[in-house]
Amino acid sequence: MTLKLPIYFDNQATTPVDPRVLEAMLPYFTEHFGNAASRSHAFGWVAEEAVERAREQVAKLIGARNPKDIVWTSGATEATNLAIKGVAESYRQKGDHFVTQKTEHKATLDTMKHLEKRGFRVTYLDVDSEGRVNPEDVRAAITDKTLLVSVMLANNEVGTIQPVADIGRICREKGVLFHCDAVQGAGKIPFNVDDACVDLASLSGHKIYGPKGVGALYVRRDKPRVQITAQIDGGGHERRMRSGTLNVPGIVGFGKACELCAQEMDEESARVAALRDRLEKGLFENIDLLHLNGCRAHRLPGNLNVSFPYVEGESLMMALKDVAVSSGSACTSASLEPSYVLTAMGVTDELAHTSIRFSLGRFNTVEEVDHVVQLAIEKVRKLRDLSPLYEMAKEGIDLSKIDWNEK
Ligand SMILES: *Cc1c(COP(=O)(O)O)cnc(C)c1O
Repeated sequence: MTLKLPIYFDNQATTPVDPRVLEAMLPYFTEHFGNAASRSHAFGWVAEEAVERAREQVAKLIGARNPKDIVWTSGATEATNLAIKGVAESYRQKGDHFVTQKTEHKATLDTMKHLEKRGFRVTYLDVDSEGRVNPEDVRAAITDKTLLVSVMLANNEVGTIQPVADIGRICREKGVLFHCDAVQGAGKIPFNVDDACVDLASLSGHKIYGPKGVGALYVRRDKPRVQITAQIDGGGHERRMRSGTLNVPGIVGFGKACELCAQEMDEESARVAALRDRLEKGLFENIDLLHLNGCRAHRLPGNLNVSFPYVEGESLMMALKDVAVSSGSACTSASLEPSYVLTAMGVTDELAHTSIRFSLGRFNTVEEVDHVVQLAIEKVRKLRDLSPLYEMAKEGIDLSKIDWNEK
């Protein structure tokens, strides 16, 4: 079989739409184009029926007992904004404090910052060197003014899975709401909103082989009944929590994507983890001084985040130009900032700048993994041949002890 280039190892940034998802969506662009809010004719009914079927599919994936608990949004960024700001506004009389942690997605961190500007207080918990939050730190941070705790299911850069069930239990015990950004974990690892005592959960279509621009917020309706203030007004769709005409084809695709994940999760996760392990083994056995970023024991199946000391991450990315990966330096800014996720885990700036995230998914193959391993071995060797620091490190000189300013 010939290998098709470029190779896509960036499935944590986005995934291709599964052909079965696309097939399910297509009729809703043309034949069944109705507005799901049109109650007076068959075009509307057909659209509404499809939307309600999708609601059941999404609810089932996360163990939500009532499909009505699912509120459609434009994606997880919007869902997270709605969850956090919606709680802040709705429960302001009760308190003014939020708890989250330092490696959350920007959707959460920037929303928290926004609340701080509006007079709320936010505690950002530390993580350990593997990126995990200690649930006891959550307990210690909760006060009688705390409204909500927000901790993600799994991290998008290092794949670290958080102990969300332990955190959820503590929140429930303390009578504090628990929001979970479940984008990276849902559909890939078991996640059940009842088992984890989750009251609000953000989900996205395009990380699980569904379309972009569609997502959902799970909002618990019973024990406790969560009340959130709408952030978008007009028309009162989605039980008044999120107005706007529904993206019917997108919702149908998102629902189908959830159904496929639920059906195939065990098999697929095992297959993707085996590919990831093959990649990890190939790199670590053939390239010296590598550093794994993340947590081997609690990690998403497709994630591999590795630092390649004595090779600049951007140079390696360029050298691997036929392989789509992400680097541990924020390419969002003009200046090359090391990833705040790696920094929070105590990874040095030097190591963070040499880090690469490989994220494998449903459509990757063994041939692709073997090709990337060979390519990385070759390119890292070339780049290190240019590095005097690598020579020194190999000779056993402790670079951290050198005074570079010595005359
Ligand atoms: C991608 C992602 C988001 C944002 O989702 P969108 O649907 O793209 O807005 C939020 N959280 C995590 C962990 C993500 O990976």
